[in-house]
Amino acid sequence: MATTEREVRVRFAPSPTGPLHIGGVRTALYNYLFARQHGGTMILRIEDTDSQRFVPGAEDYINEALAWLGIGIDEGVREGGPYGPYKQSERRDIYREHVKMLLDAGKAYIAFDTPAELEAKRNEIANFQYDASTRGMMRNSLTLPAEEVERLIADGAQYVVRFKVEPGRDVAVNDLIRGTVTIKSDILDDKVLYKSADDLPTYHLANIVDDHLMKVSHVIRGEEWLPSAPLHVLLYEAFGWSDTAPDFVHLPLLLKPDGKGKLSKRDGDRLGFPVFPLEWHDPKSGETSSGYRESGYLPEAVVNFLALLGWNPGDDTEVMSMDELISRFSLEHCSKAGAKFAFEKGKWFNHTYLQELDNARLAELFKPVLKEHGVDPSAFSDEYIAAVVGLVKSRINFVRDLWEHARFFFAAPEEYEAKAVKKRWSEQMPAIMTELADKLENEADFTGTVLEPSVLGWIEEKGYHLGNVMNAFRLTVVGECKGPHMFDITDLLGREETVRRIRKGVERIHPAE
Ligand code: GLU
Repeated sequence: MATTEREVRVRFAPSPTGPLHIGGVRTALYNYLFARQHGGTMILRIEDTDSQRFVPGAEDYINEALAWLGIGIDEGVREGGPYGPYKQSERRDIYREHVKMLLDAGKAYIAFDTPAELEAKRNEIANFQYDASTRGMMRNSLTLPAEEVERLIADGAQYVVRFKVEPGRDVAVNDLIRGTVTIKSDILDDKVLYKSADDLPTYHLANIVDDHLMKVSHVIRGEEWLPSAPLHVLLYEAFGWSDTAPDFVHLPLLLKPDGKGKLSKRDGDRLGFPVFPLEWHDPKSGETSSGYRESGYLPEAVVNFLALLGWNPGDDTEVMSMDELISRFSLEHCSKAGAKFAFEKGKWFNHTYLQELDNARLAELFKPVLKEHGVDPSAFSDEYIAAVVGLVKSRINFVRDLWEHARFFFAAPEEYEAKAVKKRWSEQMPAIMTELADKLENEADFTGTVLEPSVLGWIEEKGYHLGNVMNAFRLTVVGECKGPHMFDITDLLGREETVRRIRKGVERIHPAE
């Protein structure tokens, strides 16, 4: 199909039935990348025709998640646009009109079968399917006299409108990733397109009517929708829209990280990673599900990670900004095979993006974590917090990990690691540490690079054991024998605080029995 000559218009069309799953986020992202690359339009359409499954808050959640990730929308419920409304429950008149078009053309029919009657048929006929082979024995406008149909409707009988699928046809779905997938129309049933009970169309009708009216050029969606595509092809045909029908792109499934099968929320719970972009509070059950945002992921890292689940740039480049993804994205490099949800890789991306983050911005992200741990960030200068995070960030995957590595920069240790005390705090150590504190108090220049040779020279001159003295020193300042370079630490803490900590250690640390 002439994809390049056509104005690119794509849509992300979620149903607000709960929090957006991470697979849905990937679908939105690929639509966005494709749209931006082609200078096209990204539409957000809310498919809320299934009133039974509507969940309050889900639509806001979708908007918030996309905004957090930087997936911009050009036309939508909030943005407006020339083809609105963009919420299906506000388009009833349009669907009614289109249902009538199909009925008038004899491409659809009215069916009155009650749920009980359908159930009875299912019990009577093995593998019952409402189609060309059975519609003749059901209560519908093909079997009942026209007057009776009119009378039933006038009397307020509930009915559905079904699509009349012609048997014996080969239906070809052209998918830009999968090639042409052909199926026999005989396997399709006469799908319900409209229900009088709530005066709403079903997903199939609303979806294709809107794609047509909104001039959608490419339908990019998850593989789970591939089975619906033949029906959609037939619907375009029934409306006489085949020439302008969109191209299909069915994205590969996201698979469990550790085996076969579709990724599920349970995998996330079991292995400890979120499957939702943002935290979600279920209004019915009251249950909370974790989100990437609240778990400490940067949106750039999530985008980069998701972009590579089902697509590759053709070489081994991994770290790509949104702009780079937009310029490099291509359907040719999307895979057919499912993509394993390698969540450890997601952590790696987050680590990588945190390293590239400006220290001042990282310090801002760290402030709420400090507060959670009872530290008032305003007691420290922004420069100090930024310098601290700069010193320890190579060790973290998440912002919250900064606390573990940097806590001693915000409060002197109250406890000292027992193992290190046992190993390093010998009988002579209090005297040596007092000597060190005195020396540091009188040091002309406390700058780390100047202090380091001076202290090391002193240790050597005195004939002390380098490892023991430096570790004891670290123990008084940090509380344990790990952390960044000692003289980077003293540089930030400053003379007064360093000396105070050494003297406190001398008082408080008692050699192990
Ligand atoms: N409303 C469908 C969904 O929830 C849309 C599928 C499609 O993109 O056609 O994903």
